[in-house]
Amino acid sequence: MSYDDDNIFAKILRGEIPYNKIYEDDFILSFHDINPQKKIHALVIPKGKYIDLDDFSLNASSEEMVGLIKGINIVAKKLGISTDLGKGYRALTNVNDDGGQEVPHLHFHLFGGEKVGKMVA
Ligand code: AMP
Repeated sequence: MSYDDDNIFAKILRGEIPYNKIYEDDFILSFHDINPQKKIHALVIPKGKYIDLDDFSLNASSEEMVGLIKGINIVAKKLGISTDLGKGYRALTNVNDDGGQEVPHLHFHLFGGEKVGKMVA
């Protein structure tokens, strides 16, 4: 499967559709999920064209990997849900159909702002 340039997050990265930005740097863009499942529901996406975590794992540079992982922490701090603030959150990424992925551009969901409960079935 090749990367679909028409997916909704590719359009967001190109600035073609509106979004509610939380943070941006050379490696990532973060914005609020349009349909929040918890009090805080943010998305963190790499700027590179990666379909999912497997694609990223196989093809991203070490710099991009560090940028994404560190970016998640930066976003958590900005949202006030990081561990250094005594809080916490769930970071989750869905991979392909079996994993429930709908948008084929790698994204991490960050759920927080409340006790997010047990993992969904
Ligand atoms: P997934 O099922 O893991 O692919 O998650 C896709 C997520 O993208 C869902 O939680 C959607 O609510 C969210 N989403 C879809 N379109 C937009 C958009 N335009 N802006 C922000 N979030 C979106």
